[in-house]
Amino acid sequence: MKISEVQANLYTLAVDAMKRAYNPYSHYSVGAALQTTDGIISAGCNVENVSYRLTLCAEANAIGALIGSNGHATLQHILIVASGSGFPSPCGACRQIIAEFSHPETEVHLARAKENNAGFDVRTYRISALLPLSFSQYMMTEQPSTEQPSVAEQPVETLQKSSIPHTSA
Ligand SMILES: [Zn+2]
Repeated sequence: MKISEVQANLYTLAVDAMKRAYNPYSHYSVGAALQTTDGIISAGCNVENVSYRLTLCAEANAIGALIGSNGHATLQHILIVASGSGFPSPCGACRQIIAEFSHPETEVHLARAKENNAGFDVRTYRISALLPLSFSQYMMTEQPSTEQPSVAEQPVETLQKSSIPHTSA
């Protein structure tokens, strides 16, 4: 897949942030960089704690820095890179945090460095695919949603009747 200019820019920023990771326990570095719908950029790294469960993820820190510096904003892109050999993926908590400041089409780019500093590979997903049927602020309003749920949000019975082809021989 061809790397876009946005992905290349966010990758550079995420790698810079990853180098600042505070990870004396896991030695696993994560960097995240994001761009809002207004073009604002923010980045963050993972920050571990000797009390392991207090560890803060790079994605959450990038978003916290964004809100702290700019107030509320909506993400258009967020790119995540990590020191492991596989593609990173945001944890469940971070998916909910990303969704809080996203629209359904917000793109989550999972980047993996190629060997010998030969650039990177990226896989891109919409946040609505990574966190289907997410808990959202719209559930707290009294107005029922008029939007049709996406395929990912349809109950299993509906999918079995309408979308899944019958494949038995
Ligand atoms: Zn996380």
